[in-house]
Amino acid sequence: MSVAPQRPSLAHGEFDLIARHFTRPVRRAALGVGDDCALLQPTPGQQLAVSSDMLVEGRHFLATVPPARLGHKALAVNLSDLAACGAEPLAFTLALALPRVDEAFLAGFAQGLLALADTHGIELVGGDTTAGPLNICITVFGQVPPGQALLRNGARPGDEVWVSGQLGDARLALEAFRGLVSLGPAFDHLRLAMEQPQPRVALGLALRGLASSAIDLSDGLVGDLGHVLQRSGVGATLQLAALPRSDVLAAQPEALQQECLLAGGDDYELLFTAAPARHAEVLAAGRQTDVPLVCIGRIDAQPGLRVHGTDGQELPGRWRGFDHFAAA
Ligand code: ADP
Ligand code: MG
Repeated sequence: MSVAPQRPSLAHGEFDLIARHFTRPVRRAALGVGDDCALLQPTPGQQLAVSSDMLVEGRHFLATVPPARLGHKALAVNLSDLAACGAEPLAFTLALALPRVDEAFLAGFAQGLLALADTHGIELVGGDTTAGPLNICITVFGQVPPGQALLRNGARPGDEVWVSGQLGDARLALEAFRGLVSLGPAFDHLRLAMEQPQPRVALGLALRGLASSAIDLSDGLVGDLGHVLQRSGVGATLQLAALPRSDVLAAQPEALQQECLLAGGDDYELLFTAAPARHAEVLAAGRQTDVPLVCIGRIDAQPGLRVHGTDGQELPGRWRGFDHFAAA
């Protein structure tokens, strides 16, 4: 029901819209879209891993994003959370507020969303659809054997700190969208990092029993590593020169590179720690899943985060991750 004086016009086409764009035959779930609840059947003995992420226009994406990429990203950021826990994707729900029924938008959005779902064998089993300012909230369900989930609290002094892929491109693309840097022909490629991130699901699974802690990078390296350090009761030292970056980012002024690498956000890479004795196994997990991995520093017993520049000296200044409610 609606408390709005007049029922929003979307209500008229709500069920049609769900049937057209978001209903497909179920595969793994016991019951999918169409009833009051979906029914899931996890593998007996496994734990459910559950996570939600909301995307709001103007805050998490720009109006310029092609709809298929938006559909992809809405699911990708949620799959990234399952990856960070080492969970296998099972199913997801989609809560959608739409300003109007725009068929071209919905077709593109559903195509991008369901293509990524198929890539990862996860199915859409339900949701909610309403009229309102464009807002997308997905909840993912995954499974993991008891005791094998990768958590934030397991980093130990002496552990190596690892990161997947490359950092900072999404932030650099955002700077270009804002008109603050000019990337020329590289822009089209770089905006993919921001608009179409690839969740590291296979890597997360390969790190079960190997990583001592893990987190996905959504709010910037320093802020997200900070969560691991705080939960684990440890500190860390990072080597700035080791942070993996694209050629395009490497060609930017040093201060901008540091900002993008350390505080960028929207990377959706995995940051994890592992005992040094497991170094070769970590590299093998990267090769097996075809994901580049680099060791970027060490966990220390001393609390706090230290970043060493190329000269080996500690960088001045405090790096902060992104916080939606932080005072500007
Ligand atoms: P209810 O009123 O019982 O909560 P709804 O009328 O909201 O159910 O939804 C009808 C069915 O369509 C439910 O199975 C619900 O999970 C599904 N559904 C609604 N919106 C979406 C969506 N955006 N994507 C997938 N399934 C949806
Ligand atoms: Mg109902």
